[in-house]
Amino acid sequence: MQIYKTSFSFRNREFPIGNGKALQFIYGSRQFKTKGGLAAGTATTNVYSDKKFKTTMRAMQTSCCSPDEVIFSTNCEESLYCHLLCGLIFRDQVQVVSSTFAHGIVHAFRTFEGKWEDLVNDVRRGELCSWIKTPSLRTAMSKLLNPNPGLANIIYNKCMGLSNWYGVIQELFPNTKYIYGIMTGSMEPYLKKLRHYAGDLPLLSADYGASEGWIGANVNPELPPELAKFAVLPNIGYFEFIPLKEDLIVEPQPIELTEVNIGEEYEIIVTNFAGLYRYRLGDVVKVKGFHNSTPELQFICRRNLLLTVNIDKNTEKDLQLAVKAAANLLEEEKLEVVDFTSGIDSSTEPAHYVIYWEISGEASEELLKECCNCLDKSFLDPGYVSSRKVKTIGALELRILKKGTFHKILDHFVELGAAVSQFKTPRCVGTKNQTLLQILRHNVVKNYFSSAF
Ligand code: AMP
Repeated sequence: MQIYKTSFSFRNREFPIGNGKALQFIYGSRQFKTKGGLAAGTATTNVYSDKKFKTTMRAMQTSCCSPDEVIFSTNCEESLYCHLLCGLIFRDQVQVVSSTFAHGIVHAFRTFEGKWEDLVNDVRRGELCSWIKTPSLRTAMSKLLNPNPGLANIIYNKCMGLSNWYGVIQELFPNTKYIYGIMTGSMEPYLKKLRHYAGDLPLLSADYGASEGWIGANVNPELPPELAKFAVLPNIGYFEFIPLKEDLIVEPQPIELTEVNIGEEYEIIVTNFAGLYRYRLGDVVKVKGFHNSTPELQFICRRNLLLTVNIDKNTEKDLQLAVKAAANLLEEEKLEVVDFTSGIDSSTEPAHYVIYWEISGEASEELLKECCNCLDKSFLDPGYVSSRKVKTIGALELRILKKGTFHKILDHFVELGAAVSQFKTPRCVGTKNQTLLQILRHNVVKNYFSSAF
């Protein structure tokens, strides 16, 4: 709550809001007791169920539009529908549209595209549509719903007037001041779609932290998400930094918060009040400057290598850049990459990279072949390029997935107890994750091999 309030005070200076509500796409997940009797659950569930969460949100003039039954429903599809409906009911009061990670907002408005007519009908009739079965949701929503044909007509006309849903958030919630959520790191690929839905509304990137401990606040909310940096809050933990330099064979000793240098990259080590001692978070950050004397960090990527067959090393960031370059080609046919992941296929000799894409419509064969070549060419790591040239890594393969595959992947993780609020699409699927590989395999509709080398 302290970090929420800290960054809110910086945000509110640049983007002041009045008294109102927030349309927050937040979801609690299953909480349970360990054998030893300790309460266990995901971090965000713990936050949302804490009494202080509500008072803090009220103090920040952004109480959630949705009742607790919607936040804590175990059926996330029904819950999302009700979040959207609550947003529409309180349309004039909504000042902020947010979720923990940007994926949550994009996912919500992709769903809105398919369900908007049902939502308009519910507003018109003052009754929740029949496919929502959870009794607690039905009871909670019935307290908010009243027949409102006037509002239904407004929403209907707004939706009909939009071109390809551009600016839908701004149109539906006219008093929104900004869109808020974590937009950096693995969320960057969703920015383009988010900007499309947002219209002219500013996107404000939220703070930097993890279930294991919080790290920094965004004290420069006016910066676009691509440039967001986070001021380390030195009183919430004890932070050390492992310098990351390519040419070192032995890993250097960690250095202290005050010893970091601008422009250099580090892996963070956290020691905190929750009891973690010198815990390696696995994130790579770059020091961009200082806020007074605390460093401001830019999130770079997860440290684990993603794709490697032999001497090649490609990180999440490299994959993101390659996908971005190839996805630009899809614009020719007004298509976009809905989501993506990757893996290594070692069943061929030599092994090769596989990129999985779900795209928004049907692309031509020619274009997809071009995208496949572009992906292969866009991995610039010298180890990869040289191995491709001498064919010790096979031709990159692009596999196109059925529409809705990433939705199935989200459902799969939720079934395992993950929280939708904290969901991040895995960007690389290893052979250990057979269930996920199976979902991917069963949903491939076409594949292409690169002829770039
Ligand atoms: P979780 O498993 O939900 O606790 O996720 C924590 C992880 O999410 C961190 O270790 C980061 O890799 C990532 N993350 C959290 N905040 C940010 C941020 N502001 N920018 C980029 N990545 C973030």
